[in-house]
Amino acid sequence: MGELVVEKHTKYIVTVEKSKDSFESVVMEHLRLNGAYWGLTTLDIMGKLDVVDQDEVVSWIMQCQHESGGFGGNIGHDPHLLYTLSAIQVLGLFNKTDVLDIDKVANYIAGLQNADGSFNGDIWGEVDTRFSYIAICSLALLRRLDKINVEKAVEYIVSCKNVDGGFGCTPGAESHAGQIFCCVGALAITGSLDRVDKDLLGWWLCERQLKSGGLNGRPEKLADVCYSWWVLSSLIMIDRVHWIDKDKLIKFILDCQDKEKGGISDRPDDAVDVFHTYFGVAGLSLLEYPGLKPVDPAYALPVDVVNRIFFSK
Ligand SMILES: [Zn+2]
Repeated sequence: MGELVVEKHTKYIVTVEKSKDSFESVVMEHLRLNGAYWGLTTLDIMGKLDVVDQDEVVSWIMQCQHESGGFGGNIGHDPHLLYTLSAIQVLGLFNKTDVLDIDKVANYIAGLQNADGSFNGDIWGEVDTRFSYIAICSLALLRRLDKINVEKAVEYIVSCKNVDGGFGCTPGAESHAGQIFCCVGALAITGSLDRVDKDLLGWWLCERQLKSGGLNGRPEKLADVCYSWWVLSSLIMIDRVHWIDKDKLIKFILDCQDKEKGGISDRPDDAVDVFHTYFGVAGLSLLEYPGLKPVDPAYALPVDVVNRIFFSK
């Protein structure tokens, strides 16, 4: 079996971050804050966060904040929950959440909860269980979960549970691994995992593993490295990760590396990107690959960062 080319991945992430006019940077322009989260968290898991200029990143993040308290994907962009969580997570990595006006950010997030407990992603009103997870994870990291109706938020998520044990984006929508991570993660953070049918969901999740060892997100789909994260983290949270073949999955992820230039792709021999590099490395961490920091499956941050947030002050 190959091994994780840590130095190459570090160089790849730093290069993507610096080359502002590359193809990937242009594509990533509107989601640069998400990209920063993926890249920087990967570096931290690999023990390489010190290669970046933290003050520069923190100063740029704060320029992405809108007067409403929410964050845009880049300077001057409209705020959205997606970028607000990334901002909180990256500041958490750097132990810099104290630069935030915590209540202002928390009020922005809480203001997006609807009467039925669901959340909009921004002022335009799209509802999705992804936003329930993001709101709950963000507020928990800010230690402001009391700003929302947690009970109703949980009831809404449970209303999106399907007969196969999985979860969809809205009530009645088909189960999908990314959505399952969001719902199980939100239930884990709020101490509501008793609402999950663990054996039923565990079965659906472990059936995502294909002959190649890789995981897909739904039946009949191709394996993709990003599902190493969505499926694995969910299996860990419901205590069913021993139902998949870990060694085969490790091999699949390692086979998706660009061993010359660094970076990880969705499947072997495809083009690499920061998103899949993060999910590959985070997946390997969940599989206890040697030399990587352990990652918290619910908060999607290294365990030491999560502990520092909850056990400090
Ligand atoms: Zn993918």
